[in-house]
Amino acid sequence: MFKLACKDLGADCDFEAQGATKEEAMEMMMKHATEAHPEKMEEMKDMPEAEVSAMMMGKMQEMA
Ligand SMILES: [Zn+2]
Repeated sequence: MFKLACKDLGADCDFEAQGATKEEAMEMMMKHATEAHPEKMEEMKDMPEAEVSAMMMGKMQEMA
């Protein structure tokens, strides 16, 4: 299992995305961010997608 905390991405929020794979957790985070933090998504839209993915992958935590 992998998890990605919204807090680790700079938001004041307790949401944590989880997934069996990093991709799954990232997908869940993107969905949450779109719904809960549209202003963050707005800020990130100028960033290359590869950079956004790399940033999220870097914050990903592996769970036992
Ligand atoms: Zn959040």
